[in-house]
Amino acid sequence: MPDRLNELEHRKSGVKQQLADIGDMRQGTLTERYLKCGKLGCRCAKEDDYKHGPHFSLTKGVNGKTVTRTIPKRAVESTKAQIKEFQEFRRLNQCLLEVSEEICDAKLVEGESGDTDQKKLSKKFSKLKSSEKSKS
Ligand SMILES: [Zn+2]
Repeated sequence: MPDRLNELEHRKSGVKQQLADIGDMRQGTLTERYLKCGKLGCRCAKEDDYKHGPHFSLTKGVNGKTVTRTIPKRAVESTKAQIKEFQEFRRLNQCLLEVSEEICDAKLVEGESGDTDQKKLSKKFSKLKSSEKSKS
C-alpha cells in the first residue's frame, strides 16, 4: 500500500505544481456583438444590414445577476487566454480533489491493516513525555 500512496502523493504534487503555474484568469463568456449606434445619417441607419462591430463584452453571473464588462478589441486575445486559464484552473482543482480523495481512501485502508501511523504517533508521544520529564 505505501507504493500506491507514494504514487498518489507524487500525482498530487504534480497537480499542485501546475496550479502554481496558472497565469491571469477570469471567469465569464466572451460575446461578440454588432450594433446600430442610433445616430441619424450614419451608415447603420441607412443600411439595414450594416452594424458597427464587432464589440466584445465579457458576461458572467454574480449572485444571480449578469455582469457585463466591455472588452476593448486589443484585449480580446488576452481575455480569451484568461478564460481558458480559468477553465484549466477548474480542471486542475477537480484533479486535486480527486487525487486527494484517493489519498484519504488509501490512508483509510492502510489504517485498517498494520496501523503504521498509530505506532509513529505513540513513539512521538512517548518522546515528548520523556523530554518533559528531563526538563523538570
Ligand atoms: Zn452607426
